[in-house]
Amino acid sequence: MRWSQAFLPVLKESPSDAQIVSHKLMLRAGLVRQTAAGIYAWLPLGWRVLQKIEQIVREEQDRAGAIEMLMPTLQSAELWRTSGRYDAYGPEMLRIKDRHEREILYGPTNEEMITAIFAGDARSYRDLPRTLYHIQWKFRDEVRPRFGVMRGREFLMKDAYSFDLDEGAARLSYYTQMLAYLRTFQRMGIKAVPMKAASGPIGGDLSHEFIVLAPTGESEVFYDSAYDGFDWHQNDLRYGDEAGLKGLFDQVNSTYAATDETHDEARWAEVAEDRRRTGRGIEVGHIFYFGTKYSDAMGLKVSGKDGSPVVPHMGSYGVGVSRLIGAIIEASHDETGIVWPEAVAPWKVGIVTMRADDEASAGAADRLYEHLRMAGVEVLYDDRDERGGVKLGSMDLIGLPWQVIVGPRGIAAGTVELKNRRSGEREEISLESALARLTA
Ligand code: ATP
Ligand code: MG
Repeated sequence: MRWSQAFLPVLKESPSDAQIVSHKLMLRAGLVRQTAAGIYAWLPLGWRVLQKIEQIVREEQDRAGAIEMLMPTLQSAELWRTSGRYDAYGPEMLRIKDRHEREILYGPTNEEMITAIFAGDARSYRDLPRTLYHIQWKFRDEVRPRFGVMRGREFLMKDAYSFDLDEGAARLSYYTQMLAYLRTFQRMGIKAVPMKAASGPIGGDLSHEFIVLAPTGESEVFYDSAYDGFDWHQNDLRYGDEAGLKGLFDQVNSTYAATDETHDEARWAEVAEDRRRTGRGIEVGHIFYFGTKYSDAMGLKVSGKDGSPVVPHMGSYGVGVSRLIGAIIEASHDETGIVWPEAVAPWKVGIVTMRADDEASAGAADRLYEHLRMAGVEVLYDDRDERGGVKLGSMDLIGLPWQVIVGPRGIAAGTVELKNRRSGEREEISLESALARLTA
């Protein structure tokens, strides 16, 4: 993409209505614009990142055996009356009437709907186990929407729902999602620690939140630094390996991590002092096992192996897809702007011409741009007729992992500057080696 033809509105000043760094940077770097309280339009840059995050979530869900579908945002009040949650949910639920005075609502979550759909077609134990998911917009009329997309009213969530024959099998589905979550967040370049959680209005007795550490997080957290060393991609744990997955769960449960809601001073005191870490954190995911709560309520029943009726055990598993963008920025930025982990960066490379009016360097930059594009590298080319310093500032602000800086003096000597955004390291190298490095 050529910047001169893009819609990438960056702001010089920090907008005054934003309180935390990720919100400020999302506005300044032109990722989002608020269209109503807690409701955001995703500008091209933000949309690219949102899709990257969504795709990682999708791939890891698929790998874990979950099956994607799509449910609507609008739901009928009837469905929610069946479970009793229409009245229980409170003012966070956006309730609407259609032209026939029928009550509908903008879904804050989907347990009722998925259970009703599954109940309509699942017949026997052969239809289990299944985990179904979708990535869909939710609406919760939060009292105090704030921090930009971090606590919005409309937000994008991945929500998965598991159906199993009994509690043992349901626990295995839960452990499977736990591993999928650990892998998902690690792939995004952030550390999310699983913490035992109170299960709240969804109900049930087994629940973990996944918390990204950041000073602006809403909850206080306490965890064992052993989590810093875990690598969920390198370990050879496989989906389907029941003993291994149970082992993972036991490891998580025996390695202390809790938010202020579930913090246990006695267990905390047992953690070696030099391994105690405290701070604040952002909830980016939440998983629950809740037994037959919704299957009972929604009339889900299948015939078991011996023909007798079985009520499936369920769990639900949420990832805050849009909140993750804020959380990633909170965890990865510096004083000049965003520092995207490569896996979620809107583009991998940014090319900057220091003097767009200098024919030799503009020509070299044009060729580099075309070569990278042809090689399938995601590249943003700042070919605007602006001062070099302004362009470098914008490039730092939007945080692409690599910058190629093309200036008249370098080009005369056949070189460009390759800059790593995270380390700040700069190298003078030939155009050919820049190309080779970026396409490797
Ligand atoms: P919170 O405690 O932050 O209000 P929650 O516990 O009500 O969240 P869940 O029902 O667990 O949320 O939803 C699953 C995930 O959806 C959360 O872990 C979070 O990442 C995301 N999420 C929830 N509410 C919002 C919101 N208002 N804006 C953006 N993301 C949200
Ligand atoms: Mg939660």
